[in-house]
Amino acid sequence: AKAAGRNNLRFFDPAMQASIIARTAMEQALHEALNAKQFRIFYQPQVDAEGRIYGAEALLRWEHPTQGMVSPASFIPLAEETGLILPLGHCVLENTCEQLVKWASLPGMAHLTIAVNVSIRQFRQDDFADQVLAILAKAGANPARLKLELTESILALDLQDIKSKMTRLKAQGVTFSLDDFGTGYSSLAYLKQLPLDQLKIDQSFVRDILNDVNDEAIAKMIIALAASMGLQVIAEGVETTLQKDKLLDLGCANYQGYLFSRPVAIDEFEALINSR
Ligand code: C2E
Ligand code: CA
Ligand code: CA
Ligand code: CA
Repeated sequence: AKAAGRNNLRFFDPAMQASIIARTAMEQALHEALNAKQFRIFYQPQVDAEGRIYGAEALLRWEHPTQGMVSPASFIPLAEETGLILPLGHCVLENTCEQLVKWASLPGMAHLTIAVNVSIRQFRQDDFADQVLAILAKAGANPARLKLELTESILALDLQDIKSKMTRLKAQGVTFSLDDFGTGYSSLAYLKQLPLDQLKIDQSFVRDILNDVNDEAIAKMIIALAASMGLQVIAEGVETTLQKDKLLDLGCANYQGYLFSRPVAIDEFEALINSR
């Protein structure tokens, strides 16, 4: 071990050492943030063609004591690597299910669905379906109001295993969306075997949909695919009316993006609903 250690020293250039220290510090900080309850959930409205809000995507935020709101893009990858995504993801599910229960007794809110991002590491757990059902039951939430967003990366797992977890959850009413669709490597043959409810057009295809014929063609293809498979389709990253109109033209009638609202804190989301 000592010899190996000495050999390894060759690879410890200062820059790399600095990045390892930064990474360790970040890992430590994430653990502390979880204990100190510094994670918040923001809600981004999902709207239909008439502009009605029918649900929200739950998006994690780290309310850092000195750095303000930190985007998950900067900590989710490390949380996945270290496994911290498991308690964190559990927390997000508990929180959103409790939110669903609060809304269930409020007149203008009872119809709302919440879409929750699930990382592959969470989904891979043998008891993933049981965990979700236990969280729903404990909160007393209606499973039909919970949508789970999976990415194509889950297709690396055993197909029978994916199917059986999804089917168990679907039997109770939970729905599934395939997030960032088109950016991964999903084989359509695989895709059609999954009991999905929705495809989500990645924002990278929405951004230049008006100017880039390839992006338009991809969006069009996804919308046609969804229609032929009997799935709902939603576009993310919709920032302008022109993008929304284009998508509607192509047959996509559900949207999420800054055009409607940024992800906002729960109070602000409820105020948005009540102001309509
Ligand atoms: P995502 O699931 O693809 O979420 C969409 C991202 O696009 C969000 O970034 C959202 O704030 C942003 N966005 C929404 N509308 C617009 C728009 O009109 N224009 C642009 N440019 N961006 C828009 P965010 O909140 O920083 O989240 C980043 C990623 O972190 C998410 O990407 C998701 O993969 C991951 N994430 C967030 N919350 C969770 C969570 O609770 N669990 C897990 N496993 N991952 C999460
Ligand atoms: Ca998502
Ligand atoms: Ca997405
Ligand atoms: Ca995306």
